Amino acid sequence: MPSFSIDLKEGKLHKDTDLIVGIDLGTTNSLVAYMKEGTTHAVKDRDGKSPLVPSVIHFLPDGGILVGDEAKAKLITDPQHTIYSVKRLMGKSYHDVEGFEQYFGYQIIDEDTESLVKIRVNDRFYTPVELSAEILRALKARIEAVLEQPVSKAVITVPAYFNDAQRQATRDAGKLAGLDVLRIVNEPTAASLAYGIGLHPDDNQTIAVYDLGGGTFDISILRIQEGIFEVLSTHGDTFLGGDDFDRAVMDFWMEQNPALKTQIEAGKGMSQALRLRAEAAKKQLSRSDVFEDTLDGFPLRISRPQFESLIQPLLQRTIDACRKALRDAGLSAADIQHVIMVGGSTRTPLVKSAVAEFFGREVYDKLNPDEVVALGAAIQADVLAGNQKDLLLIDITPLSLGIETVGGLMDVILPRNSKIPAKVGRSYTTSVDGQRNLKVAVYQGERDLVEHNRPLGEFILRGIPPMPAGLPKIEIHFILDADGILRVRAKELRSGVEQEVEMRSQYGISEEDMARMLIDSIQHAKEDVAARALLEARNEAQSVLIATERFLQQNEALFTPDESARITALAGDLAAAAQGTDKDLINKAMEDLNTYSAPLAHRALEANVAQALKGSKL
Ligand code: AMP
Repeated sequence: MPSFSIDLKEGKLHKDTDLIVGIDLGTTNSLVAYMKEGTTHAVKDRDGKSPLVPSVIHFLPDGGILVGDEAKAKLITDPQHTIYSVKRLMGKSYHDVEGFEQYFGYQIIDEDTESLVKIRVNDRFYTPVELSAEILRALKARIEAVLEQPVSKAVITVPAYFNDAQRQATRDAGKLAGLDVLRIVNEPTAASLAYGIGLHPDDNQTIAVYDLGGGTFDISILRIQEGIFEVLSTHGDTFLGGDDFDRAVMDFWMEQNPALKTQIEAGKGMSQALRLRAEAAKKQLSRSDVFEDTLDGFPLRISRPQFESLIQPLLQRTIDACRKALRDAGLSAADIQHVIMVGGSTRTPLVKSAVAEFFGREVYDKLNPDEVVALGAAIQADVLAGNQKDLLLIDITPLSLGIETVGGLMDVILPRNSKIPAKVGRSYTTSVDGQRNLKVAVYQGERDLVEHNRPLGEFILRGIPPMPAGLPKIEIHFILDADGILRVRAKELRSGVEQEVEMRSQYGISEEDMARMLIDSIQHAKEDVAARALLEARNEAQSVLIATERFLQQNEALFTPDESARITALAGDLAAAAQGTDKDLINKAMEDLNTYSAPLAHRALEANVAQALKGSKL
């Protein structure tokens, strides 16, 4: 609904065009952008210096909150009340961040390892969603001040590897900040849109997006077909970035000046000063050949070749990740048509040349690498606002989604790498006579047994009318929307009882966890297959036993006592085998029972047909 507002600058009343903004909610910096008359703008602060809002939140003694540059300044003076890198905690449990706590200067609360992390500041507890909401609120206030109009709709970007919980957490943060999050878009998708790649329906490409920021590195391979973006693969390192370049320069200077090293190790304040010098050196070396300065009388000098040899091993790690991403996508470097550079650290010339060399082509680096994701989000927002040709952005599920079936087996409904949005249905039935309730437990992962996968949630479909096992027809639908939020619907078709639940996973999952789950599934493939085979044999035995019992009851009159006794004995053997762990024994017992009962079943069928024909006219 368009509304009206007063343009204070012009003093005119004008129509609010229902502006949708694009937001890059980053680990180190965030920014907001919008599109007007076909041009994208990243919104700068009041003094017009920078569009980057440091993703830092500071809590003042009086309960007030600072966000951005002012909060960043408090990182050194008051670290306990200053929160940074909150994006790393989105949708995560304490269990997920265990071992990394010391990386955060603030207090992360361990209440219950399975529940979502909380951050303690003074006597209050904050969730990562609440903290991210503060950053989003600051961005909203910034653009509202600049455009002098209220803003309530946004497109927010997330890393391609974010799972459902992390996407949901990002949406929730938007909601808390008073923003209607129309879409969650993958960062590499946004970067490619910023370069106009994928905007036209006949634009079919395969591209690589190389994103090296301050503390994280991601490489994504995307395929774009008829305006549809598909993430073919992602790789990266959540603890690799420009900060490591700075550290390498610091170490280099300390090695050259043992006296400086002693001083740094003794006092704290100087280490920060040296870090700032190292970052300044790195930035200057993106433009010049040498950096020279002093710190407390110590000469600090570094040449570009020296710097380049320091960062070479770090760069090599990013190139190795590119190679893995290509391999996962089943492609080679020659298949990539465009390479897009994202993140402040791609300003380092050696980064660009190493990536260009690896892919064998020039990289896209004309847009500001800090702004490119937000600008792309603004373009997507403009498309959603109906100002551009329609674009459908699709992604893939990073891990398989499925439900638990009898015996603890994982039944995959939406396999890993499925395109989303997706709606998939499958039919199930009961395993026990008269079963009135059915538990639907949803899991994420690649292993064959649910106990090795991640539980996402469960619910019980109640009120199934009592029927013999195998008779109810229960349809389970998985509906995964474009933002990766999963709705699970269960419906018993005979009675019409139905239930639908939206899955909010209890805790998140990191990129490493995801990689580990994939590796685990490969390493345990053999035992998983064996376990699955045993469980499947047991399940089959169970249904054969139920069917046999029913068969005997219904057709008793047709069989001699010997025949009945023989079937009962064979069924007993099968029941005994099913208690054991030898699947071959189970299958053998099943075969024996089937072989013996097949002619009897045939006889029963003929008798039943004859009986049925008696009463009907032909
Ligand atoms: P981001 O997380 O994308 O904001 O990236 C910030 C990183 O980019 C920090 O490590 C900065 O030091 C680095 N950076 C910013 N400007 C330059 C530059 N001119 N040359 C090299 N690195 C830079």
